[in-house]
Amino acid sequence: MPVTPDEFRKVMGQFATGVTIVTTANSEGTPYGLTVSSFTSVSMDPLLVVICLDNQLSGLTAFKESGKFGVNILAEDQKDLSDHFARTGTDRSQGPYVTGKTGVPLLEGVLARMECEISTLYPGGDHLLVLGEVKRTEILHPEKKPLLYYRGAYRSL
Ligand SMILES: Cc1cc2nc3c(=O)[nH]c(=O)nc-3n(C[C@H](O)[C@H](O)[C@H](O)COP(=O)(O)OP(=O)(O)OC[C@H]3O[C@@H](n4cnc5c(N)ncnc54)[C@H](O)[C@@H]3O)c2cc1C
Repeated sequence: MPVTPDEFRKVMGQFATGVTIVTTANSEGTPYGLTVSSFTSVSMDPLLVVICLDNQLSGLTAFKESGKFGVNILAEDQKDLSDHFARTGTDRSQGPYVTGKTGVPLLEGVLARMECEISTLYPGGDHLLVLGEVKRTEILHPEKKPLLYYRGAYRSL
C-alpha cells in the first residue's frame, strides 16, 4: 500500500526540529520573512545550508531576485514571532528587522542568525530546495534555549 499524505505528515511529526524565520528582500528592498523548519546544514567545505520553500510562496521571486537570504534561529520565547511569520495574509514587511553586513534583512533578538548567498536551486516536488553558501554567522543569545517544533506544536527543551 502506498504511504498516504496523512501517514507521511504523522511520521514526520515524530522528528523534532528547531524553528527559524528565513528573511530576504524584494527588488524594492522591502523585507520579507517566513517561518521555516526545513533548515539543515549540508556541507563544511564549502559551508552550505539548505531550506525547502513551498512553490506557492508569495515571496519566492524575492528570494530568486535578491540571490541571498538570512536564517534567524528562534529562542523558546519567540512563538509569537514564529506565528506572525507563518500566518496567511500577515504583513511580512513588519518585524524587528535589521540589515546584515551583506545587506540581507535579519531579525533582532533571535538566538543566532546567519547570512547566505544562494548557490543552487533544486526542484523538490511541491517545494524548492534552496542551497545557500554561508557568508556570516552570529550567536546573539547563547544563554537562551531554542524554540522546538514537534508533533505539530511548539515545545521547549
Ligand atoms: C513551525 C513551522 C514551520 C514551517 N516550515 C516551513 C518550511 O520549511 N517551508 C515552507 O515553505 N513553509 C513552512 N512553513 C509555512 C510557512 O511559514 C507559510 O506557508 C508562509 O509563511 C506563507 O507565506 P506566504 O508569503 O506565501 O503567505 P501569504 O502572503 O499569506 O500568501 C498565502 C498564499 O496566497 C498567495 N498569495 C499571496 N499574495 C497573493 C496575491 N497578491 N495574489 C494572489 N495570491 C497571493 C500565495 O502565493 C500563497 O499561496 C512553516 C510553518 C510553521 C508554523
